[in-house]
Amino acid sequence: MKAISVLGSTGSIGTQTLQIAKEFPNQFKVVALTAGKNLDLLIKQIHHHRPEVVALANENDLPELKERLNQLKSREKDFSNFNPHLFAGSEGLNIAASWNTADLVVTGIVGCAGLLPTLSAIQAGKDIALANKETLIAAGPVVLPELKLSGSRLLPADSEHSAIFQCLQGTPWPENARLSTGIPTPGLKNILLTASGGAFRDWSAQDLKNATVKDATSHPNWSMGKKITVDSATLMNKGLEVIEAHYLFGLDYEHIEIVIHPQSIIHSMIELADSSVLAQMGWPDMKLPILFAMSWPKRIETPWKKLNLSQVRKLTFLEPNTKKYPCMELAYSAGKTGGTMPAVLNAANEEAVGLFLEEKIHFVNIPKVIEKACEKHKQDLKSDPKLNDVIEVDKWARKEVRSEVQKHSHQMLIAT
Ligand code: NDP
Repeated sequence: MKAISVLGSTGSIGTQTLQIAKEFPNQFKVVALTAGKNLDLLIKQIHHHRPEVVALANENDLPELKERLNQLKSREKDFSNFNPHLFAGSEGLNIAASWNTADLVVTGIVGCAGLLPTLSAIQAGKDIALANKETLIAAGPVVLPELKLSGSRLLPADSEHSAIFQCLQGTPWPENARLSTGIPTPGLKNILLTASGGAFRDWSAQDLKNATVKDATSHPNWSMGKKITVDSATLMNKGLEVIEAHYLFGLDYEHIEIVIHPQSIIHSMIELADSSVLAQMGWPDMKLPILFAMSWPKRIETPWKKLNLSQVRKLTFLEPNTKKYPCMELAYSAGKTGGTMPAVLNAANEEAVGLFLEEKIHFVNIPKVIEKACEKHKQDLKSDPKLNDVIEVDKWARKEVRSEVQKHSHQMLIAT
């Protein structure tokens, strides 16, 4: 039985993780939950899983959570002696993330808000099922040494990185190796990250000028949170995954390629030294990569829908169009520059996506404001950043993007 903590339990990753815990009660026990604002759902989750500790992002929401728990206790006899530890705010999230009885922490907080809780879990020596890629992208140079110090392991829950990880299970893998050692796995030559192409895969560059928030938040294959769905539409998600793959598997950027694969059946591939290519396949369903990260090194038998290739019929592949989707190259460039640049890319992207969702900038202007922030950061780049540097540049980039959009508010709403 593994004891798990779920950070961001009310989100897309968090709810799917809890569905898995519910489906396999003999394998997983939930000991900690953290959430943002969705108290209705959180209370239902507490009711079902009875965690030892619960933390909220905002202190102001704590009294309401306490009140609702008291109502639950007075309503249901079974709960009268149920007294989970309750915390809130940044310190509260860190306490829940490093909770002593947990074996594994699933990181489903969206954005760089996941950084400090993930670091707390790593420092406490927990294994991490990593969904919150922004943490590694913004702070790879800070996170990797912490893994070495604590012995904590990063197990990818992102579907592409899980696919790579699954393919690597059969290749020479050093004894006691943990991911993110920065040492390329013996035999691993290239990574081929597959991308569905996002909501606008079949739109022309001209059509993109009419893209709305509703269009960008409707993914053809995957059901995910809003931010990552927009990242998929700009293909920034794939760019961020390139940086994530670099930190997880230790390959240079020249050895990480993107391939458009519209059916999302092959979740990624690896090419080995002898030119053999291995792929991992499955329906586009996040439960599978989440389960593998949770159960690793075991595999758990599931009754889930069997992949039927005659139903899929064809698997196709295309080269990515970097002109239509400039975010991929921005990510490669930030990754190659390294230091604090990926943190700026990530924060500028989070802010630009937020502004797009607020309908303050047009879809096609997302890469433009990110590029501007990255360009401006070149003069202040720190090549060997510490945690404070990452936090500082994250703040700076968000402010920079907001002020740029405010300064040119009319142009920002027009696709040029
Ligand atoms: P969602 O937006 O669905 O969920 C985000 C979760 O984080 C919610 O529980 C939310 O709480 C919580 N949250 C939001 N802001 C804060 C904050 N400031 N502090 C603490 N908690 C906060 O996101 P997803 O589940 O889609 O994505 C989560 C992460 O997983 C992202 O990094 C994404 O890139 C990655 N990922 C997601 C995939 C997917 O299929 N969804 C696939 C691969 C990776 P509340 O809702 O209560 O406000």
